Amino acid sequence: MAKRIDGKAIAEKVKAEVAKEVAALRERGIQTMLAVILVGEDPASQVYVRNKKRACEALGILSEEILLPADTTQETLLSCVQTLNDRADVNGILCQLPLPRHLDETAVINAISPEKDVDAFHPQNVGGILIGNGRFLPCTPAGVIRLLDESGIEIAGKRCVVIGRSNIVGKPLSMLLLRRDGTVTICHSKTQNLPEICRTADILVAAVGRPRFVTADFVKPGAVVIDVGVNRPADGPLCGDVDFAAVEPIAGAITPVPGGVGPMTIAMLMQNTLTAAKLQNGLSV
Ligand code: NAP
Repeated sequence: MAKRIDGKAIAEKVKAEVAKEVAALRERGIQTMLAVILVGEDPASQVYVRNKKRACEALGILSEEILLPADTTQETLLSCVQTLNDRADVNGILCQLPLPRHLDETAVINAISPEKDVDAFHPQNVGGILIGNGRFLPCTPAGVIRLLDESGIEIAGKRCVVIGRSNIVGKPLSMLLLRRDGTVTICHSKTQNLPEICRTADILVAAVGRPRFVTADFVKPGAVVIDVGVNRPADGPLCGDVDFAAVEPIAGAITPVPGGVGPMTIAMLMQNTLTAAKLQNGLSV
């Protein structure tokens, strides 16, 4: 039976470390501050924004929500980003995605100052991840690496298979695993013989967005299985991309959903906000 990787406990540890450093900065007269822009009233996005605000409060990070109506124009949104870029008291900026369809997400991401881009979506920060000198690491991929590290799972020399090649999870996570000397294979919807490739993995990551997609025949006995998926199927409770009940008896270690990767994403956002505050105050990170 696999060891369960407790993302909730590890996230609490990361947040406690961040809170300590935020308090130390405050003693030196430096406040840490995150601004979150939410356009429209998508219920899932509202929950994510509320959770980010709560995490900030718990860690002593100031936060500001900028709530804009669903019919906000591109011009207004870009001008809001520019105002936050210019404000010295704002360390981190994020715009909750997805945006309403009439808005250009790429233009908004590109408009956020790279020094305040705590989601690490700006092309300059994405380039930094690729060449290995990123100032911010994207939250979910960085959370996965931290989960592996905290669980004592070696990445160097291991065969890593990542299912999914999105810009926010699959691609950057593959780069981070490569940077840590994993031998990385990236799979996607056009990959042939997917279960066979997955069975070669010592570390298998599922970032697909399909409930219980990874079944027992994808998993080599003893492999580490990281489930990034968050799915809300109509016929049941929230679940991941991995068929947990079928895979747990085979894997060596596994992350549950909920309570695995999810809590790490928000913890790493807090960490990036702290990093932003340090960088903007000329401190080393
Ligand atoms: P995405 O942008 O939809 O990307 C999904 C990826 O899966 C794509 O690369 C796609 O391939 C691939 N794929 C789809 N069907 C496949 C198939 N049958 N076989 C192999 N590959 C397939 O999703 P995402 O944003 O990366 O998110 C993935 C999951 O993680 C979602 O459930 C999301 O909710 C969750 N998520 C969780 C967190 C967290 O904090 N826990 C954060 C972000 C995302 P193509 O490129 O060929 O289309």
